Amino acid sequence: MSQPVEKKEKKIYLIGAGPGDPKLLTLKAIEAIQASQAILYDQLVNPDVLQYAQPGANLVFVGKKKGKHIIPQDDINKLLVELAGTYDTVSRLKGGDPFIFGRGGEELEHLAIHGYSCEVIPGITSAAAAAAYIGLPLTHRNYSSQIIFITGHKKEDGDYSEFTSLDLHDKTAVIYMGVTALHEIVREMCRKEGNCELPIAIIENATLPSQRVIRGTLGNIVEIASHTQITPPALIIIGNIIKFMDRIEEVMK
Ligand code: SAH
Repeated sequence: MSQPVEKKEKKIYLIGAGPGDPKLLTLKAIEAIQASQAILYDQLVNPDVLQYAQPGANLVFVGKKKGKHIIPQDDINKLLVELAGTYDTVSRLKGGDPFIFGRGGEELEHLAIHGYSCEVIPGITSAAAAAAYIGLPLTHRNYSSQIIFITGHKKEDGDYSEFTSLDLHDKTAVIYMGVTALHEIVREMCRKEGNCELPIAIIENATLPSQRVIRGTLGNIVEIASHTQITPPALIIIGNIIKFMDRIEEVMK
């Protein structure tokens, strides 16, 4: 059995900073940022939220560019423990929600191994925010009774076959980190009879002034996305619920 770890009295916050629009930060997150002497923040965290930091707070950027961590995850974990040892109150800010494709679990575990407990402050995940900002309900009694959050980023194997079996008849799929592999994902999904007609939307830079939305079907979205040069961060939403947007447009005519 492993030795019990000695618990240390510090305040460590693992915070979801929301999808981009700084006004989507929670009051709880603001309070934690204000209380912190050191703050680690990611690429997808809007730097505007750092306006709430105390003067002189140690602000550490640990973001990544083009899918590569500038600082590898192991080093981020070490840095967190180091900062926790140095300061009384530390905030770790992540884009969206820390527990949805945010590696928050890994950091929580690493801190726990070193005796630090962590308060987790949820954030608005980009799927919920993007859908809200384009007026697309992710569930609806007539269109979608389930939501699947799925990553389009395949670590090593590049095997996208799980997308072939996705049955989106009355479900909505939201794919995080999927734009780079859009072609492969769509190719797999189109293998299933009838799927190529499924409607799809891609939202780039959701909730920010630079937000863009493209729409199509599984059959034509790759061409539309390459034409419009959609780049990460972007979310892919697939399912019949996208037709609901047409319905609202019709009603509003
Ligand atoms: N923890 C985050 C997700 C991190 S994974 C969350 O809860 O939202 C990173 C992926 O999230 C991006 O590749 C993209 O698919 C999505 N994402 C995050 N912010 C986004 C934004 N403002 N617009 C579109 N997609 C976003």
